[in-house]
Amino acid sequence: MRKMGVLFSFLLFVIGLAALCSQDKGSKGNREESQTSSTPAERWSIHDPARPLPPVVDPGPAGPPVAAPSDAIVLFNGNDLSEWEDSKGEAARWNVESGYMEVVAKTGSIRTKKAFGDCQLHIEWAAPAAVSGEGQNRGNSGVFLMNLYEVQVLDSYENKTYADGMAGAIYGQYPPLVNACRKPGEWQSYDIIFRRPRFDSRGNVLTPARMTVFHNGILIHDHVELLGPTSHKIRLPYKAHADKLPLSLQDHGHPVRFRNIWLRPLE
Ligand code: MG
Repeated sequence: MRKMGVLFSFLLFVIGLAALCSQDKGSKGNREESQTSSTPAERWSIHDPARPLPPVVDPGPAGPPVAAPSDAIVLFNGNDLSEWEDSKGEAARWNVESGYMEVVAKTGSIRTKKAFGDCQLHIEWAAPAAVSGEGQNRGNSGVFLMNLYEVQVLDSYENKTYADGMAGAIYGQYPPLVNACRKPGEWQSYDIIFRRPRFDSRGNVLTPARMTVFHNGILIHDHVELLGPTSHKIRLPYKAHADKLPLSLQDHGHPVRFRNIWLRPLE
């Protein structure tokens, strides 16, 4: 009977020890997890060539331009650049042809005269039908929300480049979920829901910028958190900025076309 008592005590001791060990393991595991917790964008270095390319999805043929709803601000209706200026505040010098505008190399990026914060943006674009160059050097332009946060425009139809720099990428941060690119020369659309970052009075980030993006009607970013302003080869930290800033389009030296640009400011 006394032997049984000793055995029982020993058993209790072993069980207790095991419980302690597993608890320690658990807390250690959590600690390791929290040390390595990061967003998908942070887990990859910028422009990492090893980052997987998303699958290709055929979006089907382009439909007619999507009409601007009645509460939208029309930024380009195919006729003139009256809503736009260059980066010095002078008249935008891109070409306006029948229903579209086209980048004129070396005239510089253009921006809206009006400024915007949270918004829903619709924009249509086409990479040059005459294919030249490869990688980043083919049909490159960009849509910059608040002149700081770029959704990449690139001819990514059978044209490989680093994943965070392909068409629809939030440049240097997030590849699109799929490659929904149409052929060069065909019209494509981006529908972007943008939430600007919020800063406190000292300039600290309260909430980062967020984007949801559709490429040719297909979801390519689902409410992702931006790490900061987009940039080439370097991830920049947030810097407090105005609540409203212009939308801009990039002159990357390629004759990319844009049409049917409208925006709905969001509360
Ligand atoms: Mg670009």
